[in-house]
Amino acid sequence: MKPKILMADLQGQYQRVKDEVDEAMQQVLLSSKYINGPQVKEFEGHLGEYLQGAEIVSCANGTDALQIALMALELSPGDEVIVPSFTYVSCAEVISLLNLIPIFVDVDPHSYTIDPVAVEQALSPRTKAIIAVHLFGQCASMEPLLYLAQKLDLFLIEDTAQALGAEYVFQDGKRRKAGTIGHIGCTSFFPSKILGCFGDGGALITRHKGLAKKARMIANHGQKIKYVHEKIGLNSRLDTLQAAVLDIKLKYINEYIASRRSAANWYYANLDNLSWICLPAQLRHSSHVFNQFTITLAETVDRVQFQAYLSSKGIDTMIYYPIALHKQMAFASLKSSNVHLPATENLCKRVLSLPMDTELGPDALKYITDTIKDF
Ligand SMILES: *Cc1c(COP(=O)(O)O)cnc(C)c1O
Repeated sequence: MKPKILMADLQGQYQRVKDEVDEAMQQVLLSSKYINGPQVKEFEGHLGEYLQGAEIVSCANGTDALQIALMALELSPGDEVIVPSFTYVSCAEVISLLNLIPIFVDVDPHSYTIDPVAVEQALSPRTKAIIAVHLFGQCASMEPLLYLAQKLDLFLIEDTAQALGAEYVFQDGKRRKAGTIGHIGCTSFFPSKILGCFGDGGALITRHKGLAKKARMIANHGQKIKYVHEKIGLNSRLDTLQAAVLDIKLKYINEYIASRRSAANWYYANLDNLSWICLPAQLRHSSHVFNQFTITLAETVDRVQFQAYLSSKGIDTMIYYPIALHKQMAFASLKSSNVHLPATENLCKRVLSLPMDTELGPDALKYITDTIKDF
């Protein structure tokens, strides 16, 4: 029988922690503290410990985290925020929703992350913030961005939705966890992320107490005291049930990352000598947690045909991302969408993400790489 290999086997991951998670969920149900139950604070505390003492403000999803971050930084309408064009829509979406202006820049074609030189070229007197996306599980090149942010008094936000647990390695050897390097980090607990819940969830990460306080207030209708609204905020909460699940799964995050790395190592070892596949670069400045294993196909390969072939063999793949943000209809009216970003545009045509999760065993991995070699 032909195997069926999903992009991510969430069921398998659940089965491994089923007893513990079921018990934790049962406790929430019996307490009926569905909103702001004690598990939310407990989880925030534990995640903060994992992230080198940063403060955590949980919220409803990763997109909200980005929106709350921008609101907490109190940017003004018309301010420009520099974002990579090769990423998920969230960053650009919330920038636009707040009447700020996304300035799309190119990425480095090997690491897929924002190109600091492109950021420097995109600076203007209106630039107020940079969002670095740690795409696919590896940190963007942060030191040049930190330097620019310091020199020009800009905010540096990290979108670490795909890189929770990754470590940035500074030139002096110091290491910091993704999300704790800039002013605010934003992450998502969408089910297929490194740390995923059973629905939507997200969090802000910051070492700045003042920003944490502001973010917490904004996420809670702009109030510190009930019914006293100091600012216009949102209703953005992590459900107690999700916090209970996440608090259990957080104990295993390093195991999850190790499983992903070992699957990635198999791919590196077994796809290395195929001239028509370019494997993801592993940078000296970051560890990689492999939320995705994204390859770039040579120009000679028909991606549609390759993807259909793998699908016919029972192997799911995904294209993250088929359309660059500056080419999206939603941003067509922006002046900054009228740019040519060669690396981004090329990647959109050539990338393909292979199955990657915590549950890929040796048989599945061998089947995937053998099938790819047969193409
Ligand atoms: C998943 C993701 C988000 C959004 O997270 P949600 O929880 O789905 O809102 C933002 N940015 C990146 C890079 C993501 O991968």
